[in-house]
Amino acid sequence: MNFNKLSFGATIGIIGGGQLGKMMAQSAQKMGYKVIVLDPNIDCPCRYVAHEFIHAEYDDEKALQQLGDSADVITYEFENISANQLKSLTDKYNIPQGYQAIELLQDRLTEKQTLEQAGTQIVPYTSIKNKDDLSNAVSELGYPFIVKTRFGGYDGKGQVLVKTEEDLEEAETIISKQECVAEKFLEIDKEVSLTVTIGNHQQITYFPLQENEHRNQILFKTIVPARSDKTESAKREVEKITNVVHFVGTFTVEFFIDENNHLYVNEIAPRPHNSGHYSIEACDYSQFDTHILAVTGQSLPQQIEVLKPAVMMNLLGKDLDLLEHEFGEHPEWHVHIYGKSERKPNRKMGHMTILTNDIDETEKDMLKRFEGREG
Ligand code: ADP
Ligand code: MG
Repeated sequence: MNFNKLSFGATIGIIGGGQLGKMMAQSAQKMGYKVIVLDPNIDCPCRYVAHEFIHAEYDDEKALQQLGDSADVITYEFENISANQLKSLTDKYNIPQGYQAIELLQDRLTEKQTLEQAGTQIVPYTSIKNKDDLSNAVSELGYPFIVKTRFGGYDGKGQVLVKTEEDLEEAETIISKQECVAEKFLEIDKEVSLTVTIGNHQQITYFPLQENEHRNQILFKTIVPARSDKTESAKREVEKITNVVHFVGTFTVEFFIDENNHLYVNEIAPRPHNSGHYSIEACDYSQFDTHILAVTGQSLPQQIEVLKPAVMMNLLGKDLDLLEHEFGEHPEWHVHIYGKSERKPNRKMGHMTILTNDIDETEKDMLKRFEGREG
């Protein structure tokens, strides 16, 4: 794909004003772009860093057109927007990210089919439309397995772990509401992710492999560089994906590594990702910088330099309760607070990045400090 360069002074329209939109806007403004954001939440984190705000639902046709008319380029910060609407917007407006990635990846079933078509290794799964398909999953996958809704899931929402027959009833409850996929539960040794930006002329720039720990299915910490030998295999999997998914901008591929050191692709986020936040301080370009460079048609850095190893800790509401009184004494923590008006125990309120020459020691220190949280 090849498209025109936008120079500074141009306007970037962002669909979605959460923390990802906010950090995108901050990169864009650093480079001299104006930002206009559309979000249904009047108090969203991006509102106060955008030049203009459109208060509307994501599927509000008129508001989307207003965004398109006011911006030189449109980008989005999350995947749960209507692929059809995005498709019709691409006819009229400049949307380098395109709609194909959204169409394929917002549905866990077509996402898995796409990954199979690309030839990547994924965890065995079955498609579930009704109760009968659930018995099928039991015989095909065996216990334990995870049932996940096809649409709208994030941070483990819309997932049920089925360990034994006793959990089937809970799985039936989500199946009665939405079609699902069932996935074999993997004994995971490590989770890693690779953040990548694709620019003009298919230029591709990789961030370093990221090592992730999830707690209650929400990202808890990211360590960079990952303590893993899977960088090259992960890159090969990403290359296969880029052959079938046409995309411009920053995206992240999440992987599982099992006990036998096998690498599996878990899922793809067609946007900047929580596990790439460390790049703001730890790299010469952040995942938001490269995203903005890509969607404005500029050249990307050939390589991302890691300036210093980093530990990134998410700050959920319960973590803020635990740690906020200490922020003032720890300038080395690089605290980011997103500015969400309501604090909830499991809501992502911010994150912090610690640059370090001793990853193991910093990790130990953080684990001790976060010990007081439940889960
Ligand atoms: P989300 O869209 O909510 O991020 P994921 O499918 O990535 O959904 O699941 C969230 C987390 O749950 C994963 O990062 C992993 O820790 C755990 N998980 C998901 N699927 C599996 C699986 N098949 N086997 C083991 N753990 C899993
Ligand atoms: Mg995930």
